[in-house]
Amino acid sequence: MKRVAILGSTGSIGRQSLEVISENPDKFQVEVLTCNKNAPLLISQSEKYRPNAVVVQDDQFYKEVHAALDPLDIKVYSGENALVSIVEMDSIDIVLTALVGYSGLLPTVNAIRARKPIALANKETMVVAGEMITRLARENGINIFPVDSEHSAIFQCLVGEFHNPIEKVILTASGGPFRGKSRDELGSVTKKQALDHPNWDMGAKITIDSATLMNKGLEVIEAKWLFGLELSQIEVVVHPQSIIHSMVQFQDGSIKAQMGLPDMRLPIQYALSYPERFETKFQRFDFRNYPSLTFEKPDTKTFRNLALAFEVGKKGGNHPCILNAANEIAVREFLKDQIGFLEIPDVIEKCLNKVSFIKNPELEDFVNTDKETRIIAKEYIN
Ligand code: MN
Repeated sequence: MKRVAILGSTGSIGRQSLEVISENPDKFQVEVLTCNKNAPLLISQSEKYRPNAVVVQDDQFYKEVHAALDPLDIKVYSGENALVSIVEMDSIDIVLTALVGYSGLLPTVNAIRARKPIALANKETMVVAGEMITRLARENGINIFPVDSEHSAIFQCLVGEFHNPIEKVILTASGGPFRGKSRDELGSVTKKQALDHPNWDMGAKITIDSATLMNKGLEVIEAKWLFGLELSQIEVVVHPQSIIHSMVQFQDGSIKAQMGLPDMRLPIQYALSYPERFETKFQRFDFRNYPSLTFEKPDTKTFRNLALAFEVGKKGGNHPCILNAANEIAVREFLKDQIGFLEIPDVIEKCLNKVSFIKNPELEDFVNTDKETRIIAKEYIN
């Protein structure tokens, strides 16, 4: 029985993680649930899964959650510090980080220091501080299991191959809702169009990132750290059907691919079940429904975010942290109709040029870079 802490249980990945746990009641037990503000859902999840403890990040919901869960003997905490320290609980066997954005960094760092294996869904943590996170994981002797479908695919291709060097990885991208569109057409796209992803049903932030190709950019940097690669070993190919989730090419030229219908429950479950595979009732892929799988080059001139992420990944230091913070602000403002779709990379470039470069950042530098970037991004937008 694995006792799981789910950070961000009310989001898309969090909810699907609970579905996976529901299907495997003899394998997993919910130990901790956390949310930002969605108190009603946290309460109903807790009534069903009976965690030992919960955290609601936003203090104003403490009373409501406490009143509902205290009678059930569930410990209730609130605030950022509680989120960061809850991961140290002795009874946690694995921490699934499904928080959105930079907010995942400190709890993940603390979980690794407490020697908890990580099921990593929060890619921004790896983007911001991949060098530090992988170093801490090594020092503490814990594994980081990818939940992101592309990285799970690569991980699955590597099982049995851990001593064979990777020549390159090929990250697949759906291309999002605006694949094939020109810059002119993108100037006037709306938030509703951007939120309408063809293959995956996800949270708002990642859906916008998919439309701008920033999601793939973040995944390039995530792959660099998870698998110890150079940027030159990472290729992005657009594959609109989202059936091949990514590929690994070895030194003999052989390519392994991991395939299946797009369903996040599979990579979530594998991150929790590794090295085993548990039976599922998920819908199976049928080749007759997909007579052709197609591939094309990403258009990085139109979708500049992907090119920016490659540049930033090469430069290193605190640049990925700047890119991430600027993107978080730009996406938020796009979702509030404050900026247009094509202005998102403008905000990011502005911040990369303005925030001072730090070659070997430590935790405190990331905290400061993140703060400074958000201020500059907001100034630029207003
Ligand atoms: Mn992904």
